[in-house]
Amino acid sequence: MRTCPGCEAVVTYGTPLVLIIVTLVATAWLGFHAHRFFYDSRPVVLLLAGIAAGGVLSLLYEAFDERVVFRKKRRPW
Ligand SMILES: [Zn+2]
Repeated sequence: MRTCPGCEAVVTYGTPLVLIIVTLVATAWLGFHAHRFFYDSRPVVLLLAGIAAGGVLSLLYEAFDERVVFRKKRRPW
């Protein structure tokens, strides 16, 4: 986390962390269920889950590439 040297606002940028978490959870869930279709081939499931997660995350990073959020710090006065 960074703060602006001028107004001390908290600056966040890039992909929102919650979307990354949602992506990882969704991919893990899909991988868990894909295991039924790829019976006894855990490496294949892990590979597919990894590819899916990597693809979605790279899309997210591209979509939020120029996102910057300033959250102003509340002054005590
Ligand atoms: Zn500032």
